[in-house]
Amino acid sequence: MELCHAHSPRLNPLPQAGEEANESLREFQINEKIMNKQYDIVIIGGGPVGSALALALKDSPLRVCVLEARTAASSDARALALSYGSRLLLERMGVWGKLHDVSAIRRIHISQKRSFGRAVLCAEEMNVPELGYVLPYQILQDALSRELRNGAVATIFGASVTQLAGEIGYADVGYQLDGVEHTLHARLAVVADGGKLLAQRHPPEVRDYGQSALITHVTCAAPQSDTAFERFTPQGPVALLPFKDGYELVWTAPHQHTEKMLAWDEAQFLEELHRHFGDRVGEFLTVGRRSCFPLGLKKAPRQAPMPHVVLIGNAAQTMHPVAGQGFNMGLRDAWELAREILDAKPEALGTDAMLAGYRSERSTDREAGIRFTDSLVRLFSNDLPLVSAARAASLTALDCLPFAKQFVARRMMFGANG
Ligand SMILES: Cc1cc2nc3c(=O)[nH]c(=O)nc-3n(C[C@H](O)[C@H](O)[C@H](O)COP(=O)(O)OP(=O)(O)OC[C@H]3O[C@@H](n4cnc5c(N)ncnc54)[C@H](O)[C@@H]3O)c2cc1C
Repeated sequence: MELCHAHSPRLNPLPQAGEEANESLREFQINEKIMNKQYDIVIIGGGPVGSALALALKDSPLRVCVLEARTAASSDARALALSYGSRLLLERMGVWGKLHDVSAIRRIHISQKRSFGRAVLCAEEMNVPELGYVLPYQILQDALSRELRNGAVATIFGASVTQLAGEIGYADVGYQLDGVEHTLHARLAVVADGGKLLAQRHPPEVRDYGQSALITHVTCAAPQSDTAFERFTPQGPVALLPFKDGYELVWTAPHQHTEKMLAWDEAQFLEELHRHFGDRVGEFLTVGRRSCFPLGLKKAPRQAPMPHVVLIGNAAQTMHPVAGQGFNMGLRDAWELAREILDAKPEALGTDAMLAGYRSERSTDREAGIRFTDSLVRLFSNDLPLVSAARAASLTALDCLPFAKQFVARRMMFGANG
């Protein structure tokens, strides 16, 4: 075993109460793995998608290491709508039962502003207990990080990857930890960093929608439990996702307008939201802390960026959140890649043939998810009268045609391969 003496990496920096008993043994075991500079698989980015991949591999004999730049728990304020299909995958990874603070979605109400067309998707009609779930990104991330620690997957927090090179037979991964440079070699390097590391060398196809999403928690006078609302407006879509006593709001609008929305005082914000969203949940009563995210489509090139390297999650495709597809798609990336890895003969791990097989397996779902999301944003974010009438007619048709509803709901729950 080749040893890396330069540093004792920071491991799992946030132990939970009651978990200290086996901590030193576990840290010893993990440290031993980390001191090794040779891995079968290195996962760059321990966000929700990278962590999910590591957990899907945790019972295999493969040597897996996760490099995560964060040193503390995530402070990301966004909430995620998870599909029923994602719940099934998280159950298989042993994570679902550990998630607290999850609210169910049993109905999705879709409408467009200033029009009669609307469609409602219901869990009973689709023969599933729930269509999806809402939970904060942080809760999902914390649960996944805890599982990584419990499953003793070698995870180095504070490790910021700065170099990646694909060679014949392996990939070289350079990272900085407390200002010191380290290098690992792996037969497969999985880039799950959200999309920055390779963006310059292998630029993705980019579409700027000119929109940002303002997100926050709101309460209202007449909440409809278990019901999510998606309302299309010429400014951009507005979503209300049921969570606890109210809703997680995702309000998209042109960048400059979201800047103004951040500056409104609470009373003005609640009033403007009521005016914009309409009266379906009554008046809005309170609003939490507001944050903004710029939105766009980024689609990494289909071909491999370099030998022994593969991209998953947002690093492979970053989408507008209008259809709540980003993490759900990334989780399916992680699951399929894990299956591909576990099915591969030892000598095939990370080879061009193996990675081409993975990309081809994911291609239909990926392309369909990107097309669906992109079309929704472009078709619905305008107020051209003829287009608006056609949209209203399509929503009504969707509502009336059980086959169309099944098709859309199943796509949203399970993706195009589901
Ligand atoms: C406003 C908003 C709402 C959304 N709502 C939904 C939704 O309802 N449903 C849904 O499915 N999706 C939604 N998404 C999309 C979803 O958030 C992403 O698809 C998901 O977070 C992608 O996960 P990831 O692990 O690929 O990337 P990230 O979440 O970006 O995680 C990347 C990780 O890599 C680490 N990292 C970065 N660079 C490095 C480096 N150089 N070295 C080491 N580590 C590194 C980061 O610290 C981070 O932990 C939403 C997105 C936005 C912006």
